[in-house]
Amino acid sequence: MPRTSDFSVRFWGVRGSIACPGIDYARYGGNTSCVEVRCGDHLLIFDGGTGLRPLGLQLKDREPLNADLFFTHSHFDHIAGIPFFASLFSASNRFRMWAGHLRPQRTLRQVLCSMMIEPLFPVPIDIFAAQTTYHDFVAGETLRPHPDVSLRTAPLNHPNGATGYRIEHGGKAVCYVTDTEHVVGQPDQNILGLIAGADIVIYDGTYTDEEFPRFASWGHSTWQEGVRLADAAGAGRLVIFHHDPSHDDAFMDRVAAEAERARPGTIVAREGLTLTP
Ligand SMILES: [Zn+2]
Ligand SMILES: [Zn+2]
Repeated sequence: MPRTSDFSVRFWGVRGSIACPGIDYARYGGNTSCVEVRCGDHLLIFDGGTGLRPLGLQLKDREPLNADLFFTHSHFDHIAGIPFFASLFSASNRFRMWAGHLRPQRTLRQVLCSMMIEPLFPVPIDIFAAQTTYHDFVAGETLRPHPDVSLRTAPLNHPNGATGYRIEHGGKAVCYVTDTEHVVGQPDQNILGLIAGADIVIYDGTYTDEEFPRFASWGHSTWQEGVRLADAAGAGRLVIFHHDPSHDDAFMDRVAAEAERARPGTIVAREGLTLTP
């Protein structure tokens, strides 16, 4: 049985919609969604937002890599780091890329190719030297990238679709649930099922409940809905994620204080934060 400390989560990008560098965002960070998960020797990356670039720099001295990259979906804030991910330029690395929101109309490879195409981008996806395979599944399937790692998945409520993940390893569970909109007063049953009893739940807290009515149909949720879902599902630590680019450090400090009162132990994700379930 692996030790609990074999399982870790590190945040490289915690922002939604668009990167927001600047002094007012320095403490929580301005990079878009990218989360590194370690299950023993296995490297699993969730989303390829701009946070993927600094992760790639840090991975340089761990090559050759044999890793999996799971996308919640393919909106720009979740794929923008791909062309700048150094690990994809090394022929000694192997990657499996996964997406659960595109079948049957499209494939992940097609979508990434359509981002890296002139005149949008100067070089095509073939520039990558790493051995890369693409895997399209249907959200709801269970994935087993390794014998000792299983990922349950569920469809989320987001324009063009998105996938929530529950990573299970060594008897612990971490959930990554971002880019999803809730219906007020109707807890999302797919999410409740996915996060039931999980040790850590990373959740789309783009807005506050007060802001939420102004952003109906934008595909995002609130940190307060995260609290309600985590409570209802008997989950462990809640991590507020996918911060709105208009929410600077002072705003996020207020969210952190309110969330701590609402559900003690809740934390606001920031770049560099590492957690163990
Ligand atoms: Zn997003
Ligand atoms: Zn999105």
